[in-house]
Formats: sequence, C-alpha cells, structure tokens
Amino acid sequence: MAFVQPTLSVPTSRLQESQDFLHSTRSAVDYLPVQKPTKSFWIDSPDANPLATEGSTGFLPAAADICIVGSGITGVSVAYHLATRFTREEPLKVIILEARDFCSGATGRNGGHLTPNSFIDFSALEAKYGQLEAKKALDLESHTAKGILEFISSQDIVDEVDLVAGGHVTMFVTDDEFCRAQEDYHAARVAGVDLSNVEWLSKEEMYSIYGVHYPGARYGGHNLWPLKLVTHLYNFAKFKMPLSLHTSTPVSTISPNKVGSPHRWKVHTPRGSVSCSYVVHATNAYASHLLPHLRGPSGIVPTRGQVMAVRASVPLDQFRGRSSWDANDGFEYWFPRPVTTISEHPLVILGGGREVESRFELIFELGREPVMEWTGIMGFTSLRDPFVGPVGDLDASSHDSNYKGQFIAAGYSGHGMPRAYAW
Ligand SMILES: Cc1cc2nc3c(=O)[nH]c(=O)nc-3n(C[C@H](O)[C@H](O)[C@H](O)COP(=O)(O)OP(=O)(O)OC[C@H]3O[C@@H](n4cnc5c(N)ncnc54)[C@H](O)[C@@H]3O)c2cc1C
Repeated sequence: MAFVQPTLSVPTSRLQESQDFLHSTRSAVDYLPVQKPTKSFWIDSPDANPLATEGSTGFLPAAADICIVGSGITGVSVAYHLATRFTREEPLKVIILEARDFCSGATGRNGGHLTPNSFIDFSALEAKYGQLEAKKALDLESHTAKGILEFISSQDIVDEVDLVAGGHVTMFVTDDEFCRAQEDYHAARVAGVDLSNVEWLSKEEMYSIYGVHYPGARYGGHNLWPLKLVTHLYNFAKFKMPLSLHTSTPVSTISPNKVGSPHRWKVHTPRGSVSCSYVVHATNAYASHLLPHLRGPSGIVPTRGQVMAVRASVPLDQFRGRSSWDANDGFEYWFPRPVTTISEHPLVILGGGREVESRFELIFELGREPVMEWTGIMGFTSLRDPFVGPVGDLDASSHDSNYKGQFIAAGYSGHGMPRAYAW
C-alpha cells in the first residue's frame, strides 16, 4: 500500500493531510536504498537497463573533480549538462556513485509521466511564493519538459524511449476538485500564464470523447520510458567528457580532506574512497543519509508510492487517444503504453489506482491481475518543492557553510520528471 502518491502538484486541501502525515509518520524506509527492491516494469523488462551493473567491480578512481551521488534523472542530468559545457580537452573528471543498479531509484520506478504543470494548484503556489514566483515555477516546468523533448528529438530516439505526445487529461471526480481547478485556472490567467493549450471539457463532452462521467481539462503532456531516457543522457555525457559510473557503490559518509589536499572532500564507500572538489547530492528520498540535518519534516521525507502495469481489456484504438491521465487530486495517474500490433491490448501503467478501475469499465476488467506491481520511494518536502543549490547548514544564519562545494537537487515530492532535468 502507498502512503501518499501524487504525481502532479498536491492541491491545498491535501496539504494539511500531508503535513500531518509528515509530522506523525515514521519514514517508510531507512535512509539508504534497500538492497532487494521490488521489480519494476521499467527496470526489469528484458534488456531495459544495459548499464545496470556498470563499474560495480574493480578499483574506484582515487580522485575526481566532481562526484555525483545517485544515478537517477537528477544525477545523470547534472553529468549531461556538464558534458555540454566542458569538452574532453578540458581536464574535468566526473564520477557518478550509485548505491544499487543504475537508475534503480524513483526514476526507474515512477509513473512515466512527463507532464509540466499547466495551472493546477496555481493558487496554492501563489499563496506560498507570490504571483511572480508561482508563474516562474510553471515556466520552469515547461522549460524543463521542452529541454527533454529537444534532447530526444536531437538524438532521434523518440521510439527508443517510447515517447508519446498524447497530451494529458485531468479528470475531476468531485465538485470540490473541479471548483479548485477553475480557481487555479483563473488565478493563473490573471498572472499571465500561457493557458492556450488548456481545454475544459464538460461532463457530456468527456462522456462522448472518453466514455467517462466526469468533467475534465485537457492540456499538453507526454509519457515515456524514463530509464531509457536517462540511459541516453548518460551515454551522451560519457561520449563528451571523462565520466565514469560506479554502481553497487553506496556513499556512506563524506568528510573533509586533509589540509593541503588539492581536493576539499573525501567521499567514503565500502569499496574505498574518492577525493573530490565538488559533491552533488542527487539522492532524492535518501538525501538525509549523507546530510542528517535534512532528516524529519522540515527536510526530505522518504515516502513510498506504488505503480502497476496492467493489461487493458480492449485494444489501443478503443482508448480514444493516447493521453496520460490523472484523477482524484493527482493521486491516481495512468496511461496506455505503445503497442506493436493493432489488436494488442496495451499495458496500462497505473499509479495509485484505488478508484480508477471502476470508472473505466470499458478499459479495465475488474479483478484482472497486474502483469507487474512495484513500489518506489519519493522524497517529500513540506512545501512540495525540491531543495536545489548549495547545501546549507541547519543554522541558516551561518555565513560560512560547513558544506562548501557540496550541492543538492532533491525532494521533488512525487513530481520530478518536468523539474529534475532543468538547468
Ligand atoms: C511510484 C512513483 C511514481 C512517480 N510518478 C511520477 C510521474 O509519473 N511523473 C513525475 O514527474 N514524477 C513521478 N515520480 C517522481 C519522480 O520519479 C522523481 O521525482 C524523480 O525520479 C527523482 O529523480 P532523482 O534522480 O532525484 O532520484 P532517484 O531516481 O530516486 O535517484 C536517486 C538515486 O540515488 C541513489 N542513492 C541514494 N542514496 C545514495 C547513496 N548514499 N550513495 C549512492 N547512491 C545513493 C539511489 O539508489 C537512486 O538511484 C514518481 C515517483 C515514484 C516513486
């Protein structure tokens, strides 16, 4: 069972519920990834993860300029962006240390949606940060998704990563959800957010198009195979600059190097240690293992989510489009995977899914067993936004950080695909 499972921003009404959760519940996991995770469709399908055990044996390099901890979309995007700015001729050495197999955290276990937030929850964002920052948050998401799409297009890998430009539909199951979404829409419009791609659909229109009895809003969105995208990002970066990946290499601690050493930090693992000048914490839900001051409700709380792959009861053409969907305040989300023949019934990747099956009788057969079912650990923050930038001390008034040269991007609170790749 999942505790909390949003993939889109969490609406205000859920905020208090989630705050209570953060304050009252012990973390779902310890602070390092478990060694025998459930099997995910994205990771455990045949040939899906060619880099799974890359660099898991042999010696670790003694030193690097930059050490990235974690090989999900965040860590690998850091390597990718460095690679686009530095060349092989420049003496920049980067290593990625990964506790388990390559990309075996949330990125390899998520719902596969690449859906930048168009307007949902805008009022809550505005209340938290003001109108300008709220608008910037949405702009950042569309900028990030655009960057990923440009990478995919420039590398000509649309089919390899199973990218589907199917758009996204949010279905409003309750009047309350619908009213809040309309308020968000109007607040976003007043703020000057570009809403030209948003289309409201009445209950009747939704029924005639999709066969469901609820109103909805349709806007831009994609779905894809996240691990395959990250594999391509890694291979690109590796081709461009000195980069090495070491899987099965959990970082246990980071300590200051001896005075006079050319590198500021020593990163310790059971396989030995690596000296480096800069450390990037791309460990998301597990960040507090190396940064204990991020433990607890004001930091990053590991939170379990659950996804399944279930065979639809009808072929893809009866889905009436390739949209990804969410409902129930973003706590349920799904899309049909591509098929290879017209008659094939697609696999539906379904996150949450406690209620959705009963609302799509035509698509889901009640009682059908999933083909695969897995869990993944999200990193939640109390504001639902990630910590990004130089690692600070717990004491915010301290000017001279004890973490000089260490950076973090973590805590996407279940909505990382259109945020983590940003630069
Ligand atoms: C069930 C589920 C469904 C989701 N659905 C969606 C969705 O549909 N759309 C969306 O936008 N977002 C979704 N998310 C959120 C999204 O997957 C994450 O925000 C994103 O993948 C975070 O990427 P990351 O690289 O920061 O973290 P991760 O992918 O978790 O990578 C962190 C890596 O760090 C490694 N690591 C941790 N500690 C250490 C250590 N000490 N030493 C070495 N390595 C370490 C881990 O093993 C892991 O591989 C979902 C998440 C889950 C769990």
